[in-house]
Amino acid sequence: MLPEYDVIVVGGGHAGCEAASAAAQMGSRVLLITMDMTKIAQMSCNPAMGGVAKGQIVREIDALGGMSGIISDLTMIQFRMLNRSKGAAMWSPRCQSDRMRFAEEWRLHLERNPHVDFWQDMVKSLLVEKGRALGVVTAMGVEIRSKAVVLTSGTFMSGVIHIGTKQFGGGRIGEKASFGITEQLTALGLEAGRMKTGTPPRVDGRSLNYAVMEEQKGDENPGKFSFTDTQPLATQRSCYITYTNPEVHSILETGFEQSPMFTGRIQGIGPRYCPSIEDKINRFAERDRHQIFVEPEGWHTVEVYVNGFSTSLPEEIQYQALRKIPGFEQAKIFRPGYAIEYDYFPPTQLQMSLETKQVENLFFAGQINGTTGYEEAACQGLMAGINAHLKINQRPAFVLKRSEAYIGVLIDDLINKGTDEPYRMFTSRAEYRLLLRQDNADLRLTPIGYTLGLASEARQAGVQQKLVDIETMKQALANLKVEPEQINPVLESMGTAPIREKMLLQTLVKRPELNFENLAGYYQPLANFLADYSSDVIQQVEILTKYESYLEKEEKMAQRLAELEDFKIPVNFDYDKLHAVSNEGRQKLKNIRPETLGQASRISGVSPSDISILLVYLGR
Ligand SMILES: Cc1cc2nc3c(=O)[nH]c(=O)nc-3n(C[C@H](O)[C@H](O)[C@H](O)COP(=O)(O)OP(=O)(O)OC[C@H]3O[C@@H](n4cnc5c(N)ncnc54)[C@H](O)[C@@H]3O)c2cc1C
Repeated sequence: MLPEYDVIVVGGGHAGCEAASAAAQMGSRVLLITMDMTKIAQMSCNPAMGGVAKGQIVREIDALGGMSGIISDLTMIQFRMLNRSKGAAMWSPRCQSDRMRFAEEWRLHLERNPHVDFWQDMVKSLLVEKGRALGVVTAMGVEIRSKAVVLTSGTFMSGVIHIGTKQFGGGRIGEKASFGITEQLTALGLEAGRMKTGTPPRVDGRSLNYAVMEEQKGDENPGKFSFTDTQPLATQRSCYITYTNPEVHSILETGFEQSPMFTGRIQGIGPRYCPSIEDKINRFAERDRHQIFVEPEGWHTVEVYVNGFSTSLPEEIQYQALRKIPGFEQAKIFRPGYAIEYDYFPPTQLQMSLETKQVENLFFAGQINGTTGYEEAACQGLMAGINAHLKINQRPAFVLKRSEAYIGVLIDDLINKGTDEPYRMFTSRAEYRLLLRQDNADLRLTPIGYTLGLASEARQAGVQQKLVDIETMKQALANLKVEPEQINPVLESMGTAPIREKMLLQTLVKRPELNFENLAGYYQPLANFLADYSSDVIQQVEILTKYESYLEKEEKMAQRLAELEDFKIPVNFDYDKLHAVSNEGRQKLKNIRPETLGQASRISGVSPSDISILLVYLGR
């Protein structure tokens, strides 16, 4: 007889792991039930964490006290800070992960927590009494009771895998689908839908000719995700870039008649931003090549992930086409690409805490809510785990605002706008992206994580000290002036205009071509000044100094959008004349025909910049 638990987490994917870890860390007795314990924290698709907007989410998870950042740091094989040439709001950390080590570290972390128990089984139904979740019943017929249930079933519920004309049940290739819960929940009044996603073939790295591909190394001074003392990489593995060509496209086209996507066998909606290679060829017929990233799956394995070649065409067509790609002439496939359809529940049925509106104490997190991506799943798991613990302890729900975190943007979008296609995070979804930078996630969120009982005392102390140091440096800097005769030789040698009068150093640093580091390299008094501060503190002060006016502008923009909430849009407005609006935005506006700007701004896929363009056309 299994004991009664505080929280049962169903599913050991990215959402389930974060949910179990958070609830247990806060003091709940947690049972993690998953269908296959050897597959805990599997990376179903590419072996990578982070990326544009997703990297910000991992930093936020870490700052709150979640684990995805630490696990990523412990298991990465390459690190790159994307968008470094753009403004600080766009800097996005991304790592290539060792797939096997990632899963292993997650499992070890959960096993180390005495508050987490495990049970390998399939949950067939939930125990629901008087509209409240009270536990689960498994396929083995075991009934386990709990005060709350977090459901994180990913791509497994009624999962169907497609490869060409073949189709079979599965939650991921080689793993069974799960059944029962959808039927029960729809009978209880919840609405369910179908979505789909796909993955590329995995190939044998020993069969590739890297000499004809372009090498992509990691950063020279690699960063990391966690604000804790995890160590950056000392050595890294390279990725490689190659391209498809017209011959590859022609071969793929011969399989279109057997494509489950084009023949209508797949009914679920797929992720617009991760299109399959057949979709790309079809939609962008004018392009004669598409980029392929060749990503190693770990330190020691020869398995390679073929990013950009997601496909559900018959395996022999995949084989033939792949072998026409430069470097892939002798390629051997380990596993073909495939597409998968699965059940999800439109997230508008949830409260902001991720608890379902229909069934009390039942929380949903991850792909079940119509999202796609490990990071999106992990942050929802974290929030659901926190909120399940808070709810059963009669504490108020924890909700992040759009202006506080990308996690807040994601959940607000899901709950208020819903999604009719797999939802992925982009920086353009956030109105306050200068405030929501990856570098300040700890300052924004660690104090909150600490109050919740999730972030440790040591993390909180570190952030408090950092805040003090930032303030001290800002004040000291406000008095630091330079004389023309001191600084002009430096400025001239750096190829930037000299100054005529005494000037505050912080005014000089606002010039795009200057920063503390390059100035200090030439100007010893600044180097002496900076020696008192950590690189993190210097970076914060530099960003706050450089972007001061942009931050103000962003705040004004947010205010203006709020004021225009009720601005009417003419019924027959011609959206085709909005050339600068994104394709997705225009399509959604034309379909939904919102009555007001407020309504338009809440449509999934219509970005804040689309709204600004609409404003201009409407004469504002
Ligand atoms: C083929 C494929 C392609 C993908 N392509 C992309 C992509 O291109 N880009 C991208 O960002 N993301 C992609 N993803 C999605 C990414 O893998 C998911 O977003 C992420 O893994 C979701 O995390 P999750 O925790 O919600 O679910 P998952 O990682 O799917 O984990 C679900 C867990 O729940 C368990 N489970 C399910 N039902 C039950 C049950 N009834 N009882 C017990 N346990 C259960 C499973 O065993 C599993 O452990 C892809 C996924 C797949 C399968």
